[in-house]
Amino acid sequence: MNSDELYQEIIMDHAGRPRNYSVMPDPSFTVEAENPMCGDELTLCVKTSEDGLRIEKTQFTGQSCAICTASASLLTTKIRSLSMSDAEKFSRTFQEMLKRTPETSVEDCEPLGNLQVLEGVRKFPMRVKCATLAWHALDQAIAQSQQGIPSSKTAISED
Ligand code: ZN
Repeated sequence: MNSDELYQEIIMDHAGRPRNYSVMPDPSFTVEAENPMCGDELTLCVKTSEDGLRIEKTQFTGQSCAICTASASLLTTKIRSLSMSDAEKFSRTFQEMLKRTPETSVEDCEPLGNLQVLEGVRKFPMRVKCATLAWHALDQAIAQSQQGIPSSKTAISED
């Protein structure tokens, strides 16, 4: 199996059997995110610690394409039991990988682990928004938390 096939398999696995795909009964933050260009809609729920300094877990639901669903599923496996700042940094690294900014090196992307399978998406600018939708939702939840808002429900749209 070559690496392209392996990458494809991980994406199809997460798209077909998304992890942490269920409604959270007691979320701290709920972000409804849509990407009209593709038709992706997802709701990301984030549970934070009492002091708001850590993300305990994330869950999602929605209707989205394979890339978007796989990216959200992988997000929920990575963003758990992390400090807010580590989660924020992780999200930034992932988004920089997709934009291939000059500051992003291969070494920088290593902590992303199997999320690196989505790197190929950057060759398809139309699909980058699919891959980043859940992460923009996460960024929104982190921003709300950092503003000292204990809990909220917000909506974002990619335009
Ligand atoms: Zn999509």
